[in-house]
Amino acid sequence: MESASSGLLEAVAAATASALHEAETSLPADVNAAIGRALEREQDPTARAQLENIRENIRYAGERGLPLCQDTGVPVVYLTLPPSVPATADLYEAVAEGVRRATAEVPLRPNVVDPLTRENTKDNTGGGMPTIHVRPGEELTVTVLPKGAGAENCSRIAMLLPSQKGEIARFVAETMLLAGGKPCPPVVLGVGIGATFDGAAALAKEALLLSIDEMDPFEQDLCDAVNALGIGPMGLGGAVTALAVKVKRGHCHTASLPVAVNVQCWASRRATRKVEVEQWT
Ligand code: SF4
Repeated sequence: MESASSGLLEAVAAATASALHEAETSLPADVNAAIGRALEREQDPTARAQLENIRENIRYAGERGLPLCQDTGVPVVYLTLPPSVPATADLYEAVAEGVRRATAEVPLRPNVVDPLTRENTKDNTGGGMPTIHVRPGEELTVTVLPKGAGAENCSRIAMLLPSQKGEIARFVAETMLLAGGKPCPPVVLGVGIGATFDGAAALAKEALLLSIDEMDPFEQDLCDAVNALGIGPMGLGGAVTALAVKVKRGHCHTASLPVAVNVQCWASRRATRKVEVEQWT
């Protein structure tokens, strides 16, 4: 590449494509482990058969380097930027270029359309796509969270009042009750509590980036409430409807209590790449 900055942009595009390739064809270790624990818990033969099918699907995808699911989702990308890397339009375009490459090379299903004309852009980019969230950080990292529609469509938000704190668990469980088998359970639920209407939704999605190896007591209570529904793997009944519930909080207006639930399917896909900045500066 001709200049340091174009070298960095190329590295960001390559990191985005590489992270998408990993996320689409293999699950993170904590999600695989959670599916394994679900299999240990389930007694129901139908539920166990569904979990076995999911594990076989994961194995096939890994062996063949193919997507875990035909719905390869829409690209949601999180960047952390060190002080030396500004959030320029070129940087956003580099991420989009990475999405275009992954769409052609993995390949990914072209899922992105105009919301009204439904015209397909054919490369998974478009207005607001990829969705890019930028945070300051020590290092330049690219994290991808491809999001399928079956789960995303079941997500909900409630503008509760502060007096309704006791309603949070009911709202989370009700979200899964309404979803039933549509989001391909066992799900991971990202719950955003606080902030504003838009901020709560962003927190809920960011919660899906957290490891599901552990839950705190509040998250465990929410998860128990969801699992008590008995929806089970793929909605066919069973003990494990949710692999985990993860919560992120933000401070909010004294008169507000926003709660958002971002539903994620068993294919809880995410991957991160670090981009070395020093070599380009
Ligand atoms: S909800 Fe998830 S597992 Fe189900 S079809 Fe969509 S991406 Fe695939």
